[in-house]
Amino acid sequence: MPTPATRTAQRIMQLNPRLSNQIAAGEVVERPASVIKELLENSLDAGSTRIDIDLEAGGTKLIRVRDNGHGIHQQDLTLALSRHATSKIRETEDLEAISTLGFRGEALASLASVSRLTLTSNASADKTAGWQVTVAGQEMQARVAPAPHPQGTTVEVKDLFFNTPARRKFLRTDKTELQRIEEVLRKLSLSHLQVAIYLHHNGKLLRHFAPAQAEDDVTRRLAGVFGQTFIDNAIYLEQAFSPEQGGNGLQLRGWVGLPTFSRSQADQQYFYVNGRMIRDKLVTHAVKQAYQDVLFHGRQPVYALFLTLDPRLVDVNVHPTKHEVRFRNGRDVHNFLFTAIHRALADVRPEGASAADRSVPGPGFAGVRSDMAETASSTTWPGGTYNSVPSQQSMRFAGRPPAFGGGFVTEQMQPYGRLLEASKIFGDETDAGDIPPLGYAIAQLHGVFILAENASGLIIVDMHAAHERITYERLKRATDDAGLKMQPLLVPVSVAMSERECDMAEEHSEQLQALGFEIQRVSAESLLVRSIPAMLRKENAGELVRDVLADLAEFGTTARITQHRDELLSTMACHGSVRANRRLTIPEMNALLRDMEATERSGQCNHGRPTWTEQSLDALNKLFLRGQ
Ligand code: ADP
Ligand code: MG
Repeated sequence: MPTPATRTAQRIMQLNPRLSNQIAAGEVVERPASVIKELLENSLDAGSTRIDIDLEAGGTKLIRVRDNGHGIHQQDLTLALSRHATSKIRETEDLEAISTLGFRGEALASLASVSRLTLTSNASADKTAGWQVTVAGQEMQARVAPAPHPQGTTVEVKDLFFNTPARRKFLRTDKTELQRIEEVLRKLSLSHLQVAIYLHHNGKLLRHFAPAQAEDDVTRRLAGVFGQTFIDNAIYLEQAFSPEQGGNGLQLRGWVGLPTFSRSQADQQYFYVNGRMIRDKLVTHAVKQAYQDVLFHGRQPVYALFLTLDPRLVDVNVHPTKHEVRFRNGRDVHNFLFTAIHRALADVRPEGASAADRSVPGPGFAGVRSDMAETASSTTWPGGTYNSVPSQQSMRFAGRPPAFGGGFVTEQMQPYGRLLEASKIFGDETDAGDIPPLGYAIAQLHGVFILAENASGLIIVDMHAAHERITYERLKRATDDAGLKMQPLLVPVSVAMSERECDMAEEHSEQLQALGFEIQRVSAESLLVRSIPAMLRKENAGELVRDVLADLAEFGTTARITQHRDELLSTMACHGSVRANRRLTIPEMNALLRDMEATERSGQCNHGRPTWTEQSLDALNKLFLRGQ
């Protein structure tokens, strides 16, 4: 019927309900995993505490989701399957503050148009009550019949895409579809910890997410998603900005992986806003910036972070799949995220450095395994409340170095035998409280490593890497204190920009000046750069200004200058640091160890490599099969 390139006008006709629903389905129902996402979101919105999922053939033949939520009134059953029908919003104002996962009123109608769908529900406590609805034909005529069901809802989606072959063609093997479903479950299971979820495939129990109430359950659930090693290599953080503190009630909690526990892919980055998992450029940027300077080049951090804020401050009505959001005040959010994560990572250093030692007044973070169940003590600091969980273990956890791998240990440790003798100097009775976290130096190995003994065993420090970080942090502090000097250009540089960028430059002229730029607008589309930050005088002024303005336009803030500056300082630190093969005296080595304990981020060198590692006596005993 459709004849594209013709000059004869076709008549306009209203699409029938099934077809228009199928078009809507095109946006949200891509594969079984998207069906699961929509159905689970509905179950969660209904306050369910238990959800059972049954699948056949990777969900392509059958998806059944049963919950114990509040159910649907009998009179509303037909409406639930029609488009633009929802119980979650009523008026335009409601759209401004969405607190449920769903609100578009499209999912069930869409699903019903591309599968054989049955909806059974009971909104009462009477177990013999319950009704079932199915739809048929182009008009999607509903048929309702009694069907006993305990309070809650069951949705059955059979033969997905049976009537839309184009979509069906894009389905992959059952195994692949199943993997995607499991990924959806992992994501949802983290944001709804109290809900029990059972997944059955072809009659077999495949996954079971136990409800997490106590701290241990939370850790277990998290381990189920990321693996136990993540828990062992992550920092737990919790930070809140209350409205009285001018923070718009932003709250962040969750886990960030230690820089040494990074990945080559950005595949383990889970970010939730008010319980909804999202992908957002601003968020990714803020996190990346917080890891700047501690992450090895090209590596990706791992994190599971939960941001809570007033629903009025975030627009979730941006994309049909609701994977994207728009923050009303992106700049605040960016700042908040960056500060919180940056601080948490700054504390990655050898245990024992107490919060009081820190030179920078700030919230500080203790890395804690998952102390959500513990009562946290609250400290107020200018600009925010910081909940700390005082724990002996916490710093230790934050600063824990990567453990030796088995084979490596065997090879590397052989020449160290003699040192165990030396450990007798302290003896077992020594009061561990007197020994600093990195212990006391006992020798230098091959001019590269410092060997030290602490309360629990052997510490090995890469002296160049460690010194580099210490020097770098010092240089940064010194330049922070001195401020960024302006360097007037002998010949001002003229830069062509878009009108919008030039507007930005004018708008942000104060901020630009604070960064060391003096910029003048000379026409609608050109700027004259008169000064640039003194430290960056060797950079291309035009490019620098362009990048800075691009950041300001997108994120309302820029860290580019600090980044450039830090790159320079990092190079300077590298050259100024002790080189391999320099003999250090024992007091020099001890001084370096003490400096490390007092320096932020000293767990990694400027390039993100670890600076030290620990081998406990227990591990050494095992290595030599002692006591077995
Ligand atoms: P939305 O979730 O955007 O409101 P849906 O098409 O997913 O739209 O669902 C339509 C309506 O059906 C929901 O607003 C809700 O009232 C009801 N509903 C759907 N699934 C459930 C469920 N599992 N439990 C209770 N009510 C449900
Ligand atoms: Mg929904």
